[in-house]
Amino acid sequence: MRCSLPKGLFDIIPHSLATEEEWHLSERWQYVEAILRSCARNYGFREIRTPIFEQTELFNRSVGESSDIVSKEMYTFLDKGNRSMTLRPEGTAPVVRAYIEHNLAHIPVIHKYFYIAPMFRYERPQLGRYRQHHQFGIETFGIPYPEQDVEVMLLLSECYKKIGLNNWSLVINSVGDEESRNAYKEALSHYFLPHLEQLSPESRLRFSRNILRILDSKDLNDQELISAAPSILDFLSQEASDHFLSVQKLLKKEKIPFIINPRLVRGLDYYNKTVFEIISTTSQKDKSLGGGGRFDSLVEQLGGAPTPSFGCATGLERIIQLLGEEKIAIPASLTPLLLFIPMGEEAFSLCFHLTCRLREKGFYVEIDLSKRKISHSLHLAEVEKARYLVVVGDREIDSGIIEIKEMATRTSDKISFDQLESYLRQKL
Ligand code: AMP
Repeated sequence: MRCSLPKGLFDIIPHSLATEEEWHLSERWQYVEAILRSCARNYGFREIRTPIFEQTELFNRSVGESSDIVSKEMYTFLDKGNRSMTLRPEGTAPVVRAYIEHNLAHIPVIHKYFYIAPMFRYERPQLGRYRQHHQFGIETFGIPYPEQDVEVMLLLSECYKKIGLNNWSLVINSVGDEESRNAYKEALSHYFLPHLEQLSPESRLRFSRNILRILDSKDLNDQELISAAPSILDFLSQEASDHFLSVQKLLKKEKIPFIINPRLVRGLDYYNKTVFEIISTTSQKDKSLGGGGRFDSLVEQLGGAPTPSFGCATGLERIIQLLGEEKIAIPASLTPLLLFIPMGEEAFSLCFHLTCRLREKGFYVEIDLSKRKISHSLHLAEVEKARYLVVVGDREIDSGIIEIKEMATRTSDKISFDQLESYLRQKL
């Protein structure tokens, strides 16, 4: 029996196949990941890696029982010790857990962390939503000021720009502090109560569980009602309102255009004050590229000291799909500098030895080890896009002289075996 890939998953492979989409190409992933790492570094973020699964309770307590993630999307299982474990559906809660567990707050550094990691959500399989997807996430701890919010937004927009994506908008909102949110929830409750029958079944459930999340509804009927609902911005406390105004001023000063959407609440329960989302303006599919916000009570909620925090995450699948949609050229893939074609046993072992030596010196040199006909090796040189080609047979071994041929120009030079390394070095 042949086993196939479970639903909602995909492989990342190094070859372009007619049956596969371009975004499955590993070179595209490497290109994006390298830019994300370099931007994170440039902003002083250090890498953190947490395990793929955690105690289920971590996500129940942080993401929130009423969120889609916890209520229906988690991959939860009992381990052999009968403990409930969950494959990580998002990255913030594990980073907070690690921050508390290792007492990182006591290390006198700037607490800025990033990760690139797979996330698992049992989603209905559909275009753009996968059961394993990957996120680049950044989290900061200890700073309550609006500059922190803006630093994170700037880093994320820098990442998109460096990757070559320009067609997106930054959407921001404030979900206030607890005081603002309680007042707003009450106003929402007054507003939606007379319309309860018109709401979708899901939103009716949200009405009693977490009324704010009605604003996330994609249902068209709901959206009509939502558009006339009170705005949270009218309920912000003085402090939350001042914070939000400062974020806007800073974004303007740094010349980052933004749109305010007072209905943006995001699906997770732990946010307060600033929330934001990056929306693609080209993609017709799910438009959210990434987002985040402030989560000042999460560290305390999970057993740490009160710690203002701000973070965000962006999905790699969406970014890499957009690379294709926007026809962004990425640098050439892995190609050998030189390919040896040995003719005969003695040449085979000499070329193998030379290949090993040159690789040791840092050159990517390839050799056709198949011992097939020369036509096969020549074909390999073409498809692997080798820059130089050297055929070695008895004549070359006897004379000690080889002909090194440049594939693109079809020109060649005669050099001795000993000169090969310095010849290649010059050509780099
Ligand atoms: P969230 O944690 O839900 O805010 O997701 C952050 C980002 O991850 C989203 O903006 C998407 O780009 C991406 N994302 C979330 N869920 C999925 C999924 N099931 N498949 C692919 N990408 C996803």
